[in-house]
Amino acid sequence: MDEMVERLTSVLRKIAAAEEAREAGGDPVTLVAVSKTFPGDAIRPVIEAGARVFGENKVQEAQQKWPELKEAYPDIELRLLGPLQSNKARDAVALFDVIETVDREKIAAEIARESHRQGRRPRVYVQVNIGREPQKAGIDPDEAVAFARRCREVHALEVEGLMCIPPSGEPPAPFFERLAELTDQAGLSRRSMGMSGDYETAILHGATSVRVGSAIFGARTYA
Ligand SMILES: *Cc1c(COP(=O)(O)O)cnc(C)c1O
Repeated sequence: MDEMVERLTSVLRKIAAAEEAREAGGDPVTLVAVSKTFPGDAIRPVIEAGARVFGENKVQEAQQKWPELKEAYPDIELRLLGPLQSNKARDAVALFDVIETVDREKIAAEIARESHRQGRRPRVYVQVNIGREPQKAGIDPDEAVAFARRCREVHALEVEGLMCIPPSGEPPAPFFERLAELTDQAGLSRRSMGMSGDYETAILHGATSVRVGSAIFGARTYA
């Protein structure tokens, strides 16, 4: 447990150093601690150490551990980082404060409908398939700007920014730069990019939030 707190401190220090190293004037970077596969008992010390923004990949898994934690720590912000099926939109809108994986019309419409029904309005990110990988979720980069506009104007979603996961095994910087350009073109200001292996690079290229799992919680044994 202490080890996780030490790793959290080290990640926060590296984020601060990367913020210092980039060009002046960037937004403060939000750390999203990715707690997928880890139980509530493992998450609590990280909350106690000060982390307040958490990410999960699966609606069902998050439902099992977060309602209790959110009740105990009401200022926590919970983000959905994994693919959302339309039959889970109701549960996702009820639990998550931010949904980072909006990548098609149907999901945008479902989130809009549930937001209206529940009187909750999660902030959303449009996920961009920045490396155009067939197996990966996300909208094509060429369609991202128009889709983000439709999410705002047609579905009245609170679109905060764009999110991407670059292809593994390639230098990520050009993909981060492309996401930054698309975010500007869409008139948005938040960019969710960078994970345990590349979050410092992502910050140097304009990330405003980084999603860090294993560098804080340790290696995952599944999923
Ligand atoms: C699991 C996951 C992360 C965190 O990955 P690490 O390499 O453990 O930091 C970040 N973003 C998404 C979308 C994920 O699924």
